[in-house]
Amino acid sequence: MRKVPLGQSLQIIRQGSLNWRAGRPIVVSFEVTDACTCFCKHCDHGGLRDMSRDMKPADYRRYMEELKPVVVQVSGGEPLMREDLSDVIRAIRQPNGLPFTILVSNWSLMTEARYLDLRHAGVGQRLGDCQLGRPGKGHAGSLFAVAERGVNQPHRTPHAANSSAAGWPCSKASRI
Ligand code: SF4
Repeated sequence: MRKVPLGQSLQIIRQGSLNWRAGRPIVVSFEVTDACTCFCKHCDHGGLRDMSRDMKPADYRRYMEELKPVVVQVSGGEPLMREDLSDVIRAIRQPNGLPFTILVSNWSLMTEARYLDLRHAGVGQRLGDCQLGRPGKGHAGSLFAVAERGVNQPHRTPHAANSSAAGWPCSKASRI
């Protein structure tokens, strides 16, 4: 896990204190879509959904201006199913560099280009759902295993079967 830089840590403490005094949340979690590439048995987000009514980047900007959280978790469903995910991350990011943004994903649609774009957009903690996707935990687990082997192979969903992330493992991301 990347160490949070000192300057950003101090910003987090300062803004967190202001939020505490104002009664605003410290951490906010945005589920940016209800759709997912997986069908994990324990989860009610699995499969394709109508994404036409998902909140737009401007909606997230309005929530951020109101709530001013210091940490934001972006999850789903599978957030990478949104083609405008980098725009959502940019809309969440504030002029002072906050919040510290954590993206939770099963990696099934991850590519190197998207990874770098998301980093530049403001994702601070890369893709915590690598933990979720560990082998042995449903379909996400099997996807993680595929990604780790760096090979493509058929999967239950078209999205996963076409996933270029299968050739781009989490272990490579940790070196960027
Ligand atoms: S990968 Fe995550 S969001 Fe998708 S079905 Fe599995 S647990 Fe649910």
